[in-house]
Amino acid sequence: MRSLQFCAAHTWPSAVFNCDLHCHSTCSDGLLQAAAVAARAASNGVDLLALTDHDNLDGLPAARAAAEAAGMSLVNGVEISIEWESLQIHILGYAFDPADPALNAGLAAIRSGRIDRARRISAELEKVGIDGAFDGAMRLAANPSLISRAHFGRFLVDSGVRKDLRSVFESYLVPGRPGYVDHRWATLADALGWISSAGGLAAVAHPGRYKLSRPDMRRFLAEYKDLGGRAIEVVSGSHTQEHVDTFGRLAREYGFLASRGSDFHGPGESYFDLGQLAPLPDGLKPIWDVF
Ligand code: AMP
Ligand code: MN
Ligand code: MN
Ligand code: MN
Repeated sequence: MRSLQFCAAHTWPSAVFNCDLHCHSTCSDGLLQAAAVAARAASNGVDLLALTDHDNLDGLPAARAAAEAAGMSLVNGVEISIEWESLQIHILGYAFDPADPALNAGLAAIRSGRIDRARRISAELEKVGIDGAFDGAMRLAANPSLISRAHFGRFLVDSGVRKDLRSVFESYLVPGRPGYVDHRWATLADALGWISSAGGLAAVAHPGRYKLSRPDMRRFLAEYKDLGGRAIEVVSGSHTQEHVDTFGRLAREYGFLASRGSDFHGPGESYFDLGQLAPLPDGLKPIWDVF
């Protein structure tokens, strides 16, 4: 068996192999430290974990050490914020070399805009009578350079504006609602280029979450495939059964590898805990077969 430090061709032994390839730590907008995320995954029965913090790789060494201590496999991961036709989309990268200079420079460039964006989000919230959001969200961000809408969401819950994150994101912080601002993220070509230059493999995160018509989704997937994208998340903590069916069908049609990830951000906040998702539907090629 080859190391999962970087990409390694390997066929996993069993059909009941529990992979969770999408989750977050305090290095981005998760609630648990990277080592605690890995330890929790192992105790939930995960066989192969990817920590996929937004736009940074800082948690990978601690996650790897904790995974090794628990006897669980870990593959390097990241979730890259891009914009495609004015829409914010997330591209997951896996099994890359974390020291790759192009990948690190690209992620640093994305991060550099987040604090300015957070000030603009706060100014928009002030217009609807919500004061102190920048400071409030920053206090909740263990890693200030990764200040995210999740931190603003938690601030709005803590200040009693809404009862939970789900209802926050129905009324705030999303396009057309207070607290949403446009932002220049990476392009799709940038993200795929960085991942491939670092020897990794890309997957579209939670494709069911994007407000794309069917023809636009097909256009997006075709462009993604043309640029070298090889996988999509089919089973995701933010997918309904209908999404699983739709994206399972699209994965077969486009020849994409299929991925599975909870998108766990923290206990009591995420709908699915680490490793506690349905298996991939039959007939799909799991992405972990090519790690
Ligand atoms: P950002 O990268 O700053 O745009 O923030 C995006 C993050 O906000 C996501 O990764 C989630 O953690 C959180 N988020 C976005 N939409 C929702 C939602 N509907 N419910 C809960 N969290 C959400
Ligand atoms: Mn997040
Ligand atoms: Mn995401
Ligand atoms: Mn995520």
